[in-house]
Amino acid sequence: MRILIGGGSGFIGRELTRLLRDKGHEVTVISRQSGPGKITWVELESRGLPPCEGAVNLAGENLMNPLRWWNESYKKDLFSSRIDTTKALSQAIAASSSPPHSWVLVSGVACYKPSLTAQYTEDSDWTPFDLLSSLVKEWEAAALLPENVAKSTKQVVIRPGAVLGRDGGAMKQMLLPFWLGLGGTLGSGRQPFPWIHVSDLAGIITHVLEPPADSPPSPSPQVFNGVAPALNTNYEFTKELGRVLRRPTIFPVPGFVMNALMGSERAVVLTQGQKVIPKRTLESGFQYKYPDLTSALKEIVR
Ligand code: NDP
Repeated sequence: MRILIGGGSGFIGRELTRLLRDKGHEVTVISRQSGPGKITWVELESRGLPPCEGAVNLAGENLMNPLRWWNESYKKDLFSSRIDTTKALSQAIAASSSPPHSWVLVSGVACYKPSLTAQYTEDSDWTPFDLLSSLVKEWEAAALLPENVAKSTKQVVIRPGAVLGRDGGAMKQMLLPFWLGLGGTLGSGRQPFPWIHVSDLAGIITHVLEPPADSPPSPSPQVFNGVAPALNTNYEFTKELGRVLRRPTIFPVPGFVMNALMGSERAVVLTQGQKVIPKRTLESGFQYKYPDLTSALKEIVR
């Protein structure tokens, strides 16, 4: 298959590209910069969708960019980098004379309201309640295809938890302090910590890119929670990472410090969390390589 990946140069995109190429698929990345194997967003808009059987959007300003202060301009970029790129792709798909058979948006679990007890599956109802859940709402809406195109193109939304891998995401920023023995729980530590190994997320994306089994495909997007089946708290994650690294984890960071450092609207992804169940992902027959924290963290720090 020929697969087009918006934001494919990033952390998840590199893993996905490796996996797709290993399976013999052809990958073209959409980027802000031109280069081999890439087209730019400007070229997508001016020339239209290149021939492809699958399209994915992973583009977005990093939510944990350590080089940026949490302010209105950063928040605006978080929204526009996701919504404008998603719209550009869904509009190019809608305008194409031969649209792909699968269109996959990777959003996030921030749509589910943090809770110590509630459990969320892909079927759970939700309405926006804060900045990040509003972002997910607008982002997923931007991906919707017109009815006539949705008859031939399968629409999928994958909502990942924190994506764990050596080369990016949260682990990249956490490994050094944990190696130095400065790691600890965040906030109360009791909050759920939905997570997935980057290799499993790439596997789920590849799995849903397959041509639709039902013809015509379901007219509304199918949602897949991109999380590991293990339910863990921040405390369990912290202790397991310390154990695998053989380092103490005795420096908790209180919630108010996280809020002051990161801005409370953003710190919420670390100081609070949701119990997210990958019900449809499991029912679809996807086999996780790293279903539990120990196997995932051992692979990452090996
Ligand atoms: P990265 O931070 O690695 O960024 C992905 C790509 O987005 C970059 O390579 C870049 O491509 C493009 N990009 C960055 N900033 C902008 C911008 N301002 N405007 C347009 N494009 C931009 O992301 P990840 O791979 O970690 O994540 C991919 C998607 O998955 C994101 O939308 C993210 O929100 C979502 N997600 C990630 C999680 C994680 O833990 N990593 C968890 C849940 C969801 P280029 O420079 O080539 O243009």
